[in-house]
Amino acid sequence: MNFNQIIGQDEVLDRIRTIIKNKKEGHAYIFSGSKGIGKKTIAEIFASIAICSEDVVEESCGKCKGCKLFNGKTNPDFYRISTKENSISVDDIRKMQKDVLIKPLYSPKKVYLIEDAQKLTLQAQNCLLKTLEEPPSYALIILTTSNNDALIETIRSRSVTFLFKKNTFDEVKKFLIDNGLANEREADFIAAYSDGVIGRAKELSTSNEFKENRDKAIEILLKINECKTKDIFSVYDFFERNKESIDEILDIMVVFYRDLLVVGKSGNENILINSDKKDIIVNNINNFSTEKLFKNIKAIDELRSNIRRNVNYQLAVEVMLMKVQEEIL
Ligand SMILES: [Zn+2]
Repeated sequence: MNFNQIIGQDEVLDRIRTIIKNKKEGHAYIFSGSKGIGKKTIAEIFASIAICSEDVVEESCGKCKGCKLFNGKTNPDFYRISTKENSISVDDIRKMQKDVLIKPLYSPKKVYLIEDAQKLTLQAQNCLLKTLEEPPSYALIILTTSNNDALIETIRSRSVTFLFKKNTFDEVKKFLIDNGLANEREADFIAAYSDGVIGRAKELSTSNEFKENRDKAIEILLKINECKTKDIFSVYDFFERNKESIDEILDIMVVFYRDLLVVGKSGNENILINSDKKDIIVNNINNFSTEKLFKNIKAIDELRSNIRRNVNYQLAVEVMLMKVQEEIL
C-alpha cells in the first residue's frame, strides 16, 4: 500500500508527507479517529517509509533489506503492540522499552506501533511516558486510538496528534464499487449505513451474518407490529441466538424506524438509509404512527442501557418486544 491508495484523509496525509519530505520526524504521533477509519493502514505505510533506507515519500522502495524484512513481517526494527484483550499492561510497555534501547539493525528508524492505545492502563501510560520524555533519536512511536480522551494529558502533550475524519458518502460508495464489494444498490445502503467509515463499510459488505441479521430484524419488526402479545415469545429466539451481535441488531432496528419516520414526515424517499428496502418502507408507512415510532425507538434505547447495566438479558429483550408491540390507544 502507498499513500496514493488512501481514499480521503487528505489533511492527515499532507501533514505526514511534509514531515517525511523535510525529514522532520518527531518521536511520537497519535492517530485518533473512529474504528475502521484507516488509522492502522496509514500508520503502517508511514512505518514502512520510515524503515526504508531509500529517500522515499509516497511509498517504501520494497527492495532494500529493511523493506524486504518489513514486507515479510520479520523486520526487528518494527515493533507492534496489538491485542484483542481489553487492556495493554505495564508489562507490555516494559518489554517494548527494553527493545527501544537496542539500536536499529537494518533501518534508519525503529518504529513502534501501539494499536488501540485507549487500552493502555494508567500504569502502562505512565511507564510509556518515560520513553516519550527521552526517546532515542531513532525511535518513532505511533499510537492509534478511537478514544483520544483515554490518553493522559502528558502523553498527548508529548505527541503530535492527527485527527482522522470520516469519509463522505460518495467516497465510501466509490470505494465499495471500485473494489467490487457491492453493486450500485447495495453500495448506496452500505455507504449510508457505515456513516463515513470505510473499514466499517468493507466489513458490512463482506458479512453474510450482517445481511441475514438485517433481513431477519426487519421481518421481526414488521411481524410484531401486527401480532398478538403471545407471539412475541416466538421471536425471542432470534435475540437469544444473536446475543453477541445485539448492539448491531438494535442499530438495524433503530435505523429502520428512523427511515419510516423520515419518509413518513418528509415524503422524501431519497434520504433513506435502507435505500435497498425502499418498497418495504413505503408500503409500511401507514402501519406506524409517528408517536409509535418514537416510542419504539425509546424502548430500544432502554433495552441498550438495561443490557449495559447487566439486567437479565431475556427479561430485558422481552420487555422491549412487548413495548414495541403494544398498541397506542
Ligand atoms: Zn526500502
